[in-house]
Amino acid sequence: FNTERFGQHILKNPQTAQSIVDLANLRPTDKVLEVGPGTGNLTVRILEKAKHVTAVEMDPRMAAELTKRVQGKPEQRKLEIMIGDFVKATLPYFDVCISNTPYQISSPLVFRLLSHRPLFRVAILMFQREFATRLVAQPGTALWSRLSANVQLYAKVDLVMNVAKNNFRPPPKVESSVVRVVPRDPPPPVEFGEFDGLGRIVFTRRNKTVHANFMAKGVMEMLENNWKTWASVNNLVRYSHPVSPLVATPHSGLQIVEDDVDFKKKVEEVLEETGFSESRAAKMDLNDLLKLLSAFHDAGIHFA
Ligand code: SAM
Repeated sequence: FNTERFGQHILKNPQTAQSIVDLANLRPTDKVLEVGPGTGNLTVRILEKAKHVTAVEMDPRMAAELTKRVQGKPEQRKLEIMIGDFVKATLPYFDVCISNTPYQISSPLVFRLLSHRPLFRVAILMFQREFATRLVAQPGTALWSRLSANVQLYAKVDLVMNVAKNNFRPPPKVESSVVRVVPRDPPPPVEFGEFDGLGRIVFTRRNKTVHANFMAKGVMEMLENNWKTWASVNNLVRYSHPVSPLVATPHSGLQIVEDDVDFKKKVEEVLEETGFSESRAAKMDLNDLLKLLSAFHDAGIHFA
C-alpha cells in the first residue's frame, strides 16, 4: 500500500471533519455507510450521531487502527468494518453515505451509490474540486458534461464546502470540495445505459451540433447494429425485395421492415422532428436530452 496509490490523505483538521459529518444531519436511527474510513477521523464523529456504521476500508492496516480506536468503547458495537475494495463490496442497507475516498474511485463511487436500492437519503462526499465542480455544473456553463448530466438525471447535487489541501496529512496535490447528493426518489424511468449512450455521442464534442456528432466516424454503424438487434428481438423480420408471400403472411405473426431503409435518413428525421439537429449538447438541459432520447426510442433507435 502506498499513500499516493490509495490516496491516503488523512483529514487532520478536527473542525473540517466535524463540519463534514454535520452536513449529513444524521438522525439517531440512521445506518451510515462510510467508504475509506482510514484512521477513523470521520468515523468517530459519525458514531456519536448514528445508530450504526458500516465502514469499507481497503487497507487492513488502516482497518486495524480504526478497530483499536473504538476498542472497549460503547461505540464499538455500532461499528462494522468491512475490509476490501468498495467497488467490489456487497453493500449493506444504508440511509446515509459519508466518504472521503481517494479520487481515483470518484466516478464509480457516485454511480454505485445511485444505482443502489433501496435509495439512500443523502450522501456527503469529498472529491477533487474539479470533479465536484463538474458534478454540479449547469447547462450553458464551461463544465457541463456527460458526467454532470448523468448524475443530475438521478440526483440533486450541491457543492457545500471547499476544503483546502492543508487540512490533510500528507497534503494532496489538488484542492478538494464536499458535495451533497440527494437522490431523486422515485428515480426517473430512464435506463442509465441508454441515457449515457446518447451522452457519449452528443458530448463527444459538446460545442459541435448534435447532427455533426451523429455523423462522426463509427456512430451510424454502431446505431444501425443496435437497431438491427432491436428489430430482431422485437420480431421484426428484415427482408430483401421481392417479398415472398409464403414468408410473410398476415398470420405469420411477424412484422415487416424494409431492409433497404436508409438508416442515416431515419436518424436525421428524428433530429429534424425534435428540432435538436443544430443544437449543441453544451447548451442542452436534461429535459432536452430526455426528449431526444425518447424520440429515438420511438423510432426504434437504441444507444446501449
Ligand atoms: N476518511 C479518512 C479521513 O478522512 O481521514 C481517510 C481518507 S483517505 C483520503 C482514503 C482512505 O480510503 C484510505 O484509508 C484508503 O486506504 C481507503 N481506500 C482507498 N481505496 C479504497 C477502496 N477502493 N475501497 C475502500 N477504501 C479505499
